[in-house]
Amino acid sequence: MSEWEIVVGLEVHAHLKTRTKMFCRCELEYGAAENTRTCPVCLAHPGALPVVNGRAIEYTIKLGLALECEIASNAVFARKNYFYPDLPKGYQISQYEAPLCGPGRLVVPTADGDEVVRIVRAHLEEDAAKTLHAGGATGRSVGAEYSLVDFNRGGTPLLEIVSEPDLRSSEAALRFLRLLRQTIVELGISDAEMEKGTMRADVNVSVRKRGEEGYRPRWELKNMNSFTFIGRGIEAAAREQIAAYERGETLQQSTYDYEPDTDRLTVHRSKEEADDYRYFPEPDLVPIEPPAELVERLRAEVPDPPGARIRRLEPAVGFDVAYALVTTERDLLYAGLVADGVEPRLAANWVMNDFAATGDDPGAVDVAGMAAVLKTPGLTRDALAEATAASAQPGFSAADYTSRTAVSDASELGPAIDAVLAANPQQVETYRGGKEGVLGFLVGQVMKETQGKADAKVVNQLLREKLTQDA
Ligand SMILES: [Zn+2]
Repeated sequence: MSEWEIVVGLEVHAHLKTRTKMFCRCELEYGAAENTRTCPVCLAHPGALPVVNGRAIEYTIKLGLALECEIASNAVFARKNYFYPDLPKGYQISQYEAPLCGPGRLVVPTADGDEVVRIVRAHLEEDAAKTLHAGGATGRSVGAEYSLVDFNRGGTPLLEIVSEPDLRSSEAALRFLRLLRQTIVELGISDAEMEKGTMRADVNVSVRKRGEEGYRPRWELKNMNSFTFIGRGIEAAAREQIAAYERGETLQQSTYDYEPDTDRLTVHRSKEEADDYRYFPEPDLVPIEPPAELVERLRAEVPDPPGARIRRLEPAVGFDVAYALVTTERDLLYAGLVADGVEPRLAANWVMNDFAATGDDPGAVDVAGMAAVLKTPGLTRDALAEATAASAQPGFSAADYTSRTAVSDASELGPAIDAVLAANPQQVETYRGGKEGVLGFLVGQVMKETQGKADAKVVNQLLREKLTQDA
């Protein structure tokens, strides 16, 4: 075990799935033509006034309740001042001293017990517009010939969740992130899809000697939008920091970009101190005072937490499969199959391997029909593969597959087996000489002889019997 330990804290951003923007009535539509979802408010025309989106407030409170946060009785929006071309007001409306959701926690189940990750806060803000760099060789801001701004995204409600630096490895950080993402998705408040940019994370990484008190300066990896790169970025940052400390260097708090191509970090820009932004309460908005009845109504809508479901599935299928089923949103499909009488291991194996490979929506599967197929004794491999491919498609009919069972009757298979043994005397000798590996070849020949209709398991057994009997 290394004498160094990794310390990770996360700031996660998720676009809320509201119909309209945070402070105006412009509709949110992923993929709409550029600059067609704008108005004087989100373009910051002089005199335009923001109006709070009540649904976004409710969504944020729901998330806060799911994370066991304290819900503020008086939450304040604040202006975060900075200049950027995609921020026409010259400030972002965010929350600073009085966020909607205060301290909370997410309990992350692992194979060796629970990891409790403390949540500092969850607050609501608006996203900036999107800058596109065009022309030039790199497609980036450096070297681009010109830049374009798409204001459709400007003003999208953005939830920010900040964790304490409680994570001690890249694996722990990813487990936390996947469970948090699943929680957000199940609350129905965001699609939280990293590849579409509706969820992204800033990752704070530092290292320290085991047993050391306090934290060393952290590196912030900005705008990470892939689980794989987050894991690799944490590893790269820790590796570079440990090497620097072992050379006797001291490190500064800084911001980096992770470059997946080189697996290295490049300096982003020096981290602004919080007071650079000159936060102050937003004068155009009154504080939010969520009524107790509203909070209680929202609490009743918070679903069964994914962590608890993982623990309930674990005894039947083991921790890893339970975790994978829940965090890939396939556990309902699994539960449906088991409720219809499919053996738990078989159901989990089909869902996580066969079905997962199709990439189809688990919610579209004909559960009763597929359960009937999976329970059919001696179903041929081809029939199962075809049923799997069709299981989430319209017009699926279990009867098309359940009749296609393999031949497992010894008297029916006998002639084919005898023919194969007679035709392959050399392989028979090899087997009898102790090289049992040749059995697979003989099974394959029988399968061929029966046009794939034989039950391979039974053929295997019958061949073994024959080869020992006649010897
Ligand atoms: Zn607007």
